[in-house]
Amino acid sequence: MKPIVVVVGSLNMDFAVRTKRLPVAGETVLGYDFRMSPGGKGANQAVAAARLGAASVAVRMIGRVGQDLFADHLKASLAGAGVDVSAVHVSRSHPTGVAMIAVDEAGQNSIAVAAGANADLAAADVEAMRRVFKGASIAMFQLETPLATVAAALKLAREEGLTTILDPAPAQELPGELIESVDIITPNEVESEQFDLGEPGAHTVVVKLGDQGCMAYRAGETFHVPAFAVNAVDTTAAGDVFNAGLAIALAEGSPFPHALRFANAAAAISVTRRGAQTSAPSRAEVDAFLLERD
Ligand code: ADP
Repeated sequence: MKPIVVVVGSLNMDFAVRTKRLPVAGETVLGYDFRMSPGGKGANQAVAAARLGAASVAVRMIGRVGQDLFADHLKASLAGAGVDVSAVHVSRSHPTGVAMIAVDEAGQNSIAVAAGANADLAAADVEAMRRVFKGASIAMFQLETPLATVAAALKLAREEGLTTILDPAPAQELPGELIESVDIITPNEVESEQFDLGEPGAHTVVVKLGDQGCMAYRAGETFHVPAFAVNAVDTTAAGDVFNAGLAIALAEGSPFPHALRFANAAAAISVTRRGAQTSAPSRAEVDAFLLERD
């Protein structure tokens, strides 16, 4: 049987409008391009993991959507990449999560998110996650669903013997008992400076450093894995693709430094393309890229 990776997290529909400049309070500006695309950190990581693990690892997603058209679209995007969506449940009290994004010509953005059904992923849902975790080897988490749920689900994944990976984004204060159930925490540079990420040595820390690659602190050892030089056009979801690459390589049994290099390669390819889920590379692309750069 293939190893299994479970992603617990958010699903959002992203609505992006390009404008000459960002509107200020009370202002309407005319935009010139509109794109609706599937997003949410959880769904981005699940889609990227399924593409990277296509032949070798099975990916399951746990999350909540509303009872609307966006839900169908988001689930179709996940299923199209090969993600098992049977644990993406429909919430009747809230619509699917959305992100309203304005992007100006300098690439600056302003984003308003309505969590919607993502906020309904409740601690009460956690016991039902047990059967989804059964037999899996790795569980991935982020912070776009309620913290109490993330904490309870992390604890359960631990109990079931999974390796847990937490992407602490968007950054927020983390309760100590949440951190205790984390095996690998993967902040970006800003997040790594903002909050206490727990006692060094208690778990592995991987700091994502953009075009500098990543820095890992594990069992008293520190190592830097440089980024691959590419022509970056859009770094949206680079961190999500990185986490997916790390999880897939570890699920396949790769040694840790090799898994970091694989994650850097997958993320490097993603920054050469626009979009979130659309920019995640296939496994064949990453393998070819690594072969070329050896
Ligand atoms: P986040 O997207 O979470 O803010 P980073 O910007 O650090 O995180 O990017 C995540 C990973 O994507 C990096 O660790 C690196 O592997 C890769 N990456 C990001 N930007 C570049 C770039 N310009 N060139 C090559 N790789 C990049």
